[in-house]
Amino acid sequence: MAIAPGIAIGPVFDTAEVPAEAPRRRIAAAAVEAERQRLAEAVALSRKQLGKLKTRLGILPEEAQEELEPLLDAYILMLGNSRLLRGARKRIESELLAAETAVQDEAEAIAALILAAKDDDKAGLKRRADEVREIARRLTRNLTSTPFRSLKEVPEGSILIAEELTPADAALLDPGKIAGVATEEGGADGHTAIMLRALGIPSVLGCVGLTETAQRGDMAVLDGSAGTLVLRPGEKALERGREALAAFTKERAKLAKLRRLPAVTTDGELVELQANLEIPAELPLIAQAGAQGIGLLRTEFLFMNREDLPDEEAQTQAYAQVLEAMGSDPVTIRVLDWGGEKDMEALSEGIAPTHAGPNPALGLRGLRLLLKRPELLEAQFAAILRVADKGNVRILLPMVTNPSEVKAAREIYERVAKRLKRKGVHLPDRLPELGCMIETPGAALAADAIALEADFFAIGTNDLAMYTLAVDRAEAEVAHLYDPLHPAVLRLMQFATEAALRLRMPVSVCGEMAGNPRLVPLLLGLGIRCLSMNASAIPRVKQMVRSLDIADCARFARRVMEQSDPQRIHELVMGFGTAKD
Ligand code: PEP
Ligand code: MG
Repeated sequence: MAIAPGIAIGPVFDTAEVPAEAPRRRIAAAAVEAERQRLAEAVALSRKQLGKLKTRLGILPEEAQEELEPLLDAYILMLGNSRLLRGARKRIESELLAAETAVQDEAEAIAALILAAKDDDKAGLKRRADEVREIARRLTRNLTSTPFRSLKEVPEGSILIAEELTPADAALLDPGKIAGVATEEGGADGHTAIMLRALGIPSVLGCVGLTETAQRGDMAVLDGSAGTLVLRPGEKALERGREALAAFTKERAKLAKLRRLPAVTTDGELVELQANLEIPAELPLIAQAGAQGIGLLRTEFLFMNREDLPDEEAQTQAYAQVLEAMGSDPVTIRVLDWGGEKDMEALSEGIAPTHAGPNPALGLRGLRLLLKRPELLEAQFAAILRVADKGNVRILLPMVTNPSEVKAAREIYERVAKRLKRKGVHLPDRLPELGCMIETPGAALAADAIALEADFFAIGTNDLAMYTLAVDRAEAEVAHLYDPLHPAVLRLMQFATEAALRLRMPVSVCGEMAGNPRLVPLLLGLGIRCLSMNASAIPRVKQMVRSLDIADCARFARRVMEQSDPQRIHELVMGFGTAKD
């Protein structure tokens, strides 16, 4: 899995953890109190270690700190009055187990429960189970006095390899010293991946068999953009690696020059290129990429990795931080899109109980959930409105299928605004615009009706393709059928875009499709003038925009839209500019 772009060439350094030797052990009944005391000491030591790790966060870039701190807090919380410790203490007493055995048994029992939960977000479940195991490992190490691996010894310029790297480990990496990271485990959406991206260390995860094959000191060429690692490269592979490194550096410098240039076509049409933001850690990247604002702020990050809900005040602070960083550039904040493949502990663990149903993608997700639990929507609207005069903000509703949902959301929105005004909160004269995601076939085909209720559209092609083609976007088995260029998806996009343009209503595309430079001619040809994408894609997309003529794009789009064969559409789109289009 390609996790963070860049090329690293250097010796590998293996930091495999020395496994803690902790054979299963029983104790005598008379030793129960002493064993509980041992556990208490290990807990205290672990808390101290994590506290120290927290203070070391200070040396990391701010964005990395923000990502890691809540996780460390969660670990520390697990060392408080947690189920893990209560269970372990009970096992010491009732099963007469040694502390380390009790901790491991309890952690495995909890992990098994988490993993057995009925939830489609398998990666999320695994992450939570791993967090429990991670704390158990730390306790076991401390109970058996096994040393932790030290990342301090990693020689400068080397590629760190490991079976698994925890986010806490990743936090200790110095991006100025470490050339790259490759691990066997980990997922593209895990905390570790997010951290590595935030730190800008070229990284590849999911290299099965890596630690068994690699010897410390072996040369390797890692390509974080392609997701490859060549171990013990021959002269040819090494040469290719050097070339890729030179090309990457050159390309980055070239693209960086584009930052200040406008995204304008050769015939003078301006195209807005905005960024999608998933965590505040990406804010500096957005500035570097030359984005003209945030076209999609996914607010799910506020609700993740915590066992309670963020209150209005906490949300207000988070939005204020983003608005301040973005100055007068537009920021489109999407209200919580819970459900589907996303999962949030606070929402699923009883604080705001919800039931995803047997088919979560079709169940209570996005706006449906918010209308069912209006207190969530009210708090989020209020938090956004409180900071609305700090910048240029718009609000986006996820997973709309019916105009009545937009109407209902707007009623709540206006009610919240009135309440704030009564309280003396200063609001802008015109309330921020309220827009709709067009990400279901229903919304796309009813776009003319929904347009009457909404102030703008953002076409979410990720879900639109999923729902149109009945292909789960996160399911590897059917990935070959997932195709945003399928004529059915394109026709829906065209219908929705035209519905918006007829009313002169702003419309953007904010799915992954928007970040693919090869699809830009088609999107512009369909009438789209605003694209929102992951920040790192902006320079390449801008380069493409600056090479295009709108009339050519419109002609090209007409040709594409006449086709009904997906294969032919692919050929046309990938061949744009090579034939006479
Ligand atoms: C989409 O569905 O295309 C989209 C942008 O939203 P998300 O990826 O957050 O579901
Ligand atoms: Mg979506």
